[in-house]
Amino acid sequence: MSFSRPSIIRPPSEWKSYFLPLTAGCSNNTCVFCGYYGSQLQIREVDDVKSEIDSLASFIRTGIRLPAIPKAVYAVAQGWEGKRIFLQDGDALVYPFPKLRQVLQYLNEKLRHVERIGTYATPRDILRRSIDELHELRRLKLGILYTGLETGDDELLQKIGKGVSSDELIEAGRKAKEAGITLSVTVILGLAGGDESRRHALETARVLTEIDPDYAGALTLTLVPGTPLYEQWERDEFHPLSPFQSLEELRLIIDNSGFTNCFFSSMHASNYLPVRGNLPQDRERMLRELEVVLAAGDPSLLRPEFLRGL
Ligand code: SF4
Repeated sequence: MSFSRPSIIRPPSEWKSYFLPLTAGCSNNTCVFCGYYGSQLQIREVDDVKSEIDSLASFIRTGIRLPAIPKAVYAVAQGWEGKRIFLQDGDALVYPFPKLRQVLQYLNEKLRHVERIGTYATPRDILRRSIDELHELRRLKLGILYTGLETGDDELLQKIGKGVSSDELIEAGRKAKEAGITLSVTVILGLAGGDESRRHALETARVLTEIDPDYAGALTLTLVPGTPLYEQWERDEFHPLSPFQSLEELRLIIDNSGFTNCFFSSMHASNYLPVRGNLPQDRERMLRELEVVLAAGDPSLLRPEFLRGL
């Protein structure tokens, strides 16, 4: 089967990157809320990846577009500032280690000006790599891993099909940090619905504290048609939180996590209220911002539903 280039799904902070696909889909395609649910993982041939790197390097040098190269390559390359590369897709760290090393070596050789390479990684992908392998990837400029924790609650982790326990989340997060790779994690407000909301928030705060990542972002659950969670909602088996209940979860997480130095934000388009700051320094200010909105209970202070994005 020939490799199909995936559409660009990226962390907000990677907007200046060149998007280089190594895989399509996600190796852990069992998360019941996620658009990758049931996706078929495809692994791209190394030669194909290298040929794209060659075309990119030649385009940067000469501006020449080769007819055999997909238009998408030049569309992304045109606005690229040349410093960052984001490896696609849902978890490119699953790419077999010898191949990943070859690709990073080739990138380092052909695009010397690149400063940082980033990718999504599942906790399982990180655990699968030895610490020496992670160090080697770091040396080859793999500078940031984006990992979805979603929750720290073991029961909920099992329910959503994440495929790892909270202990494994912690082990994976600490391992990435030990290798010197910047770690950015996300958690999902509202993932437990109304039933176990408080436990989800408190357990998530516990796991965030144990990992102590460099960046932590809160997203708010958006039900995606075609996913099992969406179907549960249609059958009235899943009861989503109200926007204000999701803000209460956010407040609990900020109030109960003990970071040493973490940039925490709810700036993602899925959220009803953006707050951000460095924790622990900005904790009181961030909590105050949330408490003012929670006390007012005025929906006009929140991002309207039609402006929320995935
Ligand atoms: S591991 Fe991440 S990308 Fe893969 S299915 Fe789960 S949430 Fe989606």
